[in-house]
Amino acid sequence: MPILIHLQKVLSLYGATLIAVSKTKSAEAIRAVYDEGQRDFGENRVQELLEKIPLLPGDIRWHLIGHLQTNKVKYLTPSIALIHSVDSLKLMETLQEHGQRKNWKIPILFQIKIAQEDTKSGFEIDELLDILSSRDITLFNHLDFRGVMGIGTLDAVAEFTRIEFNRLKEVFIRIKANYFQNNPAFKEISMGMSHDYEIALEEGATMVRIGSLVFGERV
Ligand SMILES: *Cc1c(COP(=O)(O)O)cnc(C)c1O
Repeated sequence: MPILIHLQKVLSLYGATLIAVSKTKSAEAIRAVYDEGQRDFGENRVQELLEKIPLLPGDIRWHLIGHLQTNKVKYLTPSIALIHSVDSLKLMETLQEHGQRKNWKIPILFQIKIAQEDTKSGFEIDELLDILSSRDITLFNHLDFRGVMGIGTLDAVAEFTRIEFNRLKEVFIRIKANYFQNNPAFKEISMGMSHDYEIALEEGATMVRIGSLVFGERV
């Protein structure tokens, strides 16, 4: 799988983590990529993720990257390494309660809306800043805040995508400085997919989420 080796090399130059997005792909296909040394995999649906976990090796770090509905939170287990898609106060509160019940400090990223498309979910930047400034964030003691995530506009030209990724990086720096200065774990910027990961790396991504380049196009 030469493309995987290439990606892992490029990413290690940037000190970034490759998340191989395996949604719709079979356990066998995932196993083949695992056998090449890949350990971080991303899924966008809770059900599909939970079905795959027992079929595959226990040292895989599973990332939930798709929109998470509050009524699905009850199914989440500590076998999930990171939730990238926390996009509302309601979801934060539901996760906090679930973490309390499960005695689990749930690792999360704030998904922030950087694309122009209305269809993309995520906090509006001002909305998130409002929440952080008006609440005592330490009350969310069952959330383990790790950073931010964003999805660029799908078919934007490169320079436009660069502006979006740069905006996410700026928001990250601002939030980190104001609210997570003393939290070394708050360090992740998850951005970039198959078509725009190079720009994301240049703009400071610490994690890129790549599906079709690794697994081939989804049908
Ligand atoms: C599917 C998906 C990806 C990967 O997309 P590719 O274009 O196949 O690389 C990345 N992030 C999210 C949130 C996704 O849903």
